Amino acid sequence: MNSFIKNKILGFFVKTNGFFSKLLFGGKAHIFMLHRVLPEKLRIKYDYNIDLAITPEALESFIQYFQKKGFKFISLDELSEKLESRKWGKDKYICFTLDDGYRDNITYGLPIFEKYQVPFTIYVTNCFPNGSAHFWWYWLEEKIKNEEEITFRHVTYPSESNEEKINTYNAIREEIKNCSPSEREELTTYFFQKTEESITKECEDLALNWEELKTISNHSLITLGAHTSNHYSLVHLSDLEMQKEIEVGKIELEKNLEKEICHFAYPYGSLKDANDRDFTFVKNLGFKTATLNHPGNVYSSSLSNRLFLPRYALGNNTSAKRFENYLNGIQHFSTNGWSKKPV
Ligand SMILES: [Zn+2]
Repeated sequence: MNSFIKNKILGFFVKTNGFFSKLLFGGKAHIFMLHRVLPEKLRIKYDYNIDLAITPEALESFIQYFQKKGFKFISLDELSEKLESRKWGKDKYICFTLDDGYRDNITYGLPIFEKYQVPFTIYVTNCFPNGSAHFWWYWLEEKIKNEEEITFRHVTYPSESNEEKINTYNAIREEIKNCSPSEREELTTYFFQKTEESITKECEDLALNWEELKTISNHSLITLGAHTSNHYSLVHLSDLEMQKEIEVGKIELEKNLEKEICHFAYPYGSLKDANDRDFTFVKNLGFKTATLNHPGNVYSSSLSNRLFLPRYALGNNTSAKRFENYLNGIQHFSTNGWSKKPV
């Protein structure tokens, strides 16, 4: 769509306070993406990664808002059933999902979800419970905070002022995210100078282990989903590497949890991190749903994109306006135009 026309329509949607956009693009369900749940005193230890965590208070206030507005909370299995049967009724639905498998999901998140009886999914990347996760987004933050200049792949980045540090973080982050498995291994050893022991220790501190996952897999509110073995941006992997990441991840989860794993989330999850090749492979493995990190709503017609469903990031910094635009369809239209699918 011509961007002039799109902006005109957007302006109209905004001027009419989302009334018309809600009719057209409000959808039947909204899926929200969280990562960590941390009290403010722990959350503010991070600067560039602060939005990876939501405080229990903010999570609770979002839940209370949805409850007040009459939304119904459903699990991904229930969402999948509604997509299949196309029986939605008059209600609108909310699904909560938490990516990666951080222990704080249970320490600080579960009491809130239990208080309001809200079902949620944790997408587990196997390297978390296996004790081999590269928390490179935290390592990079620490390195940039402590050094005044960073040399990465023969390029020297300034890292003195706060602004320089943020720019340097964002530039290097993008490069590391798009690494191949062998490049990531090399960076871990030589750029970050991490040892196997330090990696295992960090996983023990931050990640749910297999025993904890097995216990929570029987909780009536919790669904465990798959999120690949090692959390690579899939489009940057060869066919074989991509298949191994997804399939081995699913099989290992099922073996250790003695449960079928029916839901999947693409690591990093933007449309630059996963493509048709990956969606098709996920479909052929029998997953019922798969989610992206790409804004948009779920419609009664979304069965056709159940293997690439959109999600909204939710956090303490989600402004009231932005949040409102998620629910009234303005954000969906702004990102996806007339299409009810993310791609
Ligand atoms: Zn993830």
